[in-house]
Amino acid sequence: MERRTLHQEEPLFCGRGIDSAFGPDAVGCGGCPFWVLLLFSLLAMKMLQLLAGVTAVGFSVMHDKNKGYEKMKRTDYLLWDEYFMGVALLSAQRSKDPSTQVGACIVDSKNKIVGVGYNGFPLGCDDDDLPWDREGDFLETKYPYVCHAELNAVLNSTRIDLSDCKIYTTLFPCHECSKVLIQTGIKNIIYYEDKYADTESVKAAKRMLDQANVAYNWYTQNKRTMSLDL
Ligand SMILES: [Zn+2]
Repeated sequence: MERRTLHQEEPLFCGRGIDSAFGPDAVGCGGCPFWVLLLFSLLAMKMLQLLAGVTAVGFSVMHDKNKGYEKMKRTDYLLWDEYFMGVALLSAQRSKDPSTQVGACIVDSKNKIVGVGYNGFPLGCDDDDLPWDREGDFLETKYPYVCHAELNAVLNSTRIDLSDCKIYTTLFPCHECSKVLIQTGIKNIIYYEDKYADTESVKAAKRMLDQANVAYNWYTQNKRTMSLDL
């Protein structure tokens, strides 16, 4: 490995850093900034500063996964809103409804997920026997049988009192689910889309939510796309 002299006037980039200061060919570098390309351990950096009198240590993080030098935290991690809406969107993919897949995720005041759900038939009811149709005789449509995502999220919740919680849902809650959410004490709804805003169901939902002082806000997309290899 090439050993290089360090100069304050012209900070050089060395290959491995610490050898340049302590190796046989090292020269005094007190007062010099010290630049390394690879981020080595915090302990090594402290030794460098103490023993060599280096006044500043600069480093450029290199993503060397083989050597595990990544010490800086990631900057492209999911934000809380993205995480919770992401869970709701992922949950929706469990739905067997051919026309509408909805997911919901309930979160407490400490950002812990306490319930998730998606739309589907009740436990024990046959997905292949009950109808998925949207039109026709009421008993031959899905409507009398399906449990909505928000209801399932509440029923699946690990807690009874949800009064400090908010719910992320991929679709604005219908009037039936809104009643359930109001009764649980949830005071905040974050929804991904509101494509049935003109229906009587959603109008009734908003009327009740307004009176019960339940806030509902459209989820602001950050235009990020994620894909999962499953
Ligand atoms: Zn509903």
